[in-house]
Amino acid sequence: MRLPKLRELKEAVTAVFSPRFTTRFPAVPCVVPERYRGKPEFDLDTCIGCGACVNVCPTEALTQTDVFQADPPVRKITLRHDTCIFCGNCRDNCTTETGIKLSNEWDLAGLDREAMAETQEFELQLCEKCGALIGTKKHLVWLYEKLGPLAYTNPSLLIAKSGELLTEPQDVRKHAQKDEGSQTGDFMRILCPKCKCELNIRL
Ligand code: SF4
Ligand code: SF4
Repeated sequence: MRLPKLRELKEAVTAVFSPRFTTRFPAVPCVVPERYRGKPEFDLDTCIGCGACVNVCPTEALTQTDVFQADPPVRKITLRHDTCIFCGNCRDNCTTETGIKLSNEWDLAGLDREAMAETQEFELQLCEKCGALIGTKKHLVWLYEKLGPLAYTNPSLLIAKSGELLTEPQDVRKHAQKDEGSQTGDFMRILCPKCKCELNIRL
């Protein structure tokens, strides 16, 4: 019976005089490895608001809402840091490959869960004929740039790109027409696939 007690005593004395094995966080900042997966961060220069990352988020830390009543209509993408598990799915499946990145920021503890969410807004592009959702304006411009000369076969992409040069945002809802029939001028409007198909069949 005495032998185990002596061994425990020896271990306790050895531990007291040994250097510490744990870090001194939070007194001393903890330095993480270079490729550490921490808090996801949007890069608004390259994020186009397509929502692909929302579809692959396993915990629904990323959610998306299209607000058609807003002026102009917008897509809101919300990232909740309190439910993110830093899996990296959003980064690995990002359409532009650099729209969202995992930083090495990891100390996200807090008491207010509502303060742990951030929302980004992207202007929506609606069909100029029927008002249906096409996508975000940034997404169309990205497609134009990605396709290069091939984009010249798609007037909607050309017009979306030229819309970047406008100083005043255009309210598509004012121009959207319903049950007007197809007109030749419709070829030079931003159309959803359904309206484009109808136009090509009728004219
Ligand atoms: S890292 Fe994973 S859990 Fe966090 S937002 Fe991206 S996909 Fe969702
Ligand atoms: S997939 Fe990439 S580009 Fe699309 S919304 Fe997410 S971060 Fe932005």
